[in-house]
Amino acid sequence: KSFKELGVIDELVEACATLGWKSPSKIQAEALPHAFQGKDLIGLAQTGSGKTGAFAIPIIQALMEKPQAFFACVLSPTRELAIQIAEQFGALGAGIGVKCAVLVGGVDMVQQSVALGKRPHIIVATPGRLVDHLSNTKGFSLRLLKYFVLDEADRLLNEDFEKSLDELLSAIPRERRTYLFSATMTNKV
Ligand code: AMP
Repeated sequence: KSFKELGVIDELVEACATLGWKSPSKIQAEALPHAFQGKDLIGLAQTGSGKTGAFAIPIIQALMEKPQAFFACVLSPTRELAIQIAEQFGALGAGIGVKCAVLVGGVDMVQQSVALGKRPHIIVATPGRLVDHLSNTKGFSLRLLKYFVLDEADRLLNEDFEKSLDELLSAIPRERRTYLFSATMTNKV
């Protein structure tokens, strides 16, 4: 099926075409119908499979229906992956005004706080730095979050991140969509 046949709105079909995405990848074709039905997702997919689109498309589409700041938060185990995810959100959302902030370690906190002050729709973060901002950046909260994504969940659900993840889960609403993508299905996942 085409993106349109799967229920993707015209603006996003066009954005996909601009990126050279002519038809949905396998993970996108499998994930999108469930996402559009409002379900949570667990996706088994490697990097390179198009998994970012599989969660970014339904999130942007839902955001268009009811725009708000701090609508979705995507967690990544590494800075590099976080930046790549934010680039895809930026590319898909360019024509429709989607604002995205990246919160990763090794970058000035103040600069990131300024970005948060602009009330982005989407946050892409590594867990530790996100927790730092939740406790230190005035006016920033995830109380109204609607979508929570764990990308490379197998890597996020290890001991290094456990404490941060517990803190994050207590800072976000229980009523939300949760999307979990992983290259492997471990017990923890
Ligand atoms: P990802 O697995 O999300 O890291 O995506 C890997 C690469 O595939 C990225 O460069 C995407 O731009 C590209 N991509 C994602 N979805 C599609 C698609 N439906 N058709 C062609 N390329 C795609």
